[in-house]
Amino acid sequence: MTIDFNKGDGLVPVVIQDDQTLEVLMLGYMNEEAWNKTQAENKVTFYSRSKNRLWTKGEESGNFLEVVSSHIDCDNDTLLIKVHPAGPTCHTGSRSCFNTEYNQNFLLKLEAIVQSRFDFPTEESYVNRLRSKGINKIAQKVGEEAVETVIAALNETEHDFINESSDLLFHLIVLLREKGLSLKDIAKNLEGRH
Ligand code: AMP
Ligand code: ZN
Ligand code: ZN
Ligand code: ZN
Repeated sequence: MTIDFNKGDGLVPVVIQDDQTLEVLMLGYMNEEAWNKTQAENKVTFYSRSKNRLWTKGEESGNFLEVVSSHIDCDNDTLLIKVHPAGPTCHTGSRSCFNTEYNQNFLLKLEAIVQSRFDFPTEESYVNRLRSKGINKIAQKVGEEAVETVIAALNETEHDFINESSDLLFHLIVLLREKGLSLKDIAKNLEGRH
């Protein structure tokens, strides 16, 4: 990956995106030194135009940006870095400097939360209580919620339909994770049909 640092006085803009939720978190600038440090440490270091020095995001707050993957644009003068943020990215405490909402992306966030229940089980967790009953029970729940969704669509209020659809998607996410799959695999498959 060859980055053209000469176009913008030695700085390139860097878009920071959450690898899991796809949320755009912030924009910063890197010079070559910042880029080299970012690669060496696998966490994002910018060149701060206000501080006039290298700035490792999280150096005071601890909210580092762990690099998942880096992508250069079509003419080599802008970077996109996908990260796992260690905490809120904005100094105001927001997840994103742009104060965006998850919206559809909350499905991806929900999947990450379900995965964290798999990784760190607790007794209160519904996901873990469901899992402890076995995959047959999870699959059965998906079937039940599918039927409830159909009934709500045909006979009940929009509110009921939204609730049953939510139950269905939630349980489907749990079943997918139980089988080692994710929403990404489904999206990839749907995309492949086009
Ligand atoms: P941090 O790098 O998170 O330890 O924050 C150190 C300092 O950098 C803060 O006090 C802010 O001045 C600034 N800062 C932190 N996060 C951001 C951000 N997302 N955008 C702009 N400035 C920031
Ligand atoms: Zn470009
Ligand atoms: Zn901010
Ligand atoms: Zn239901």
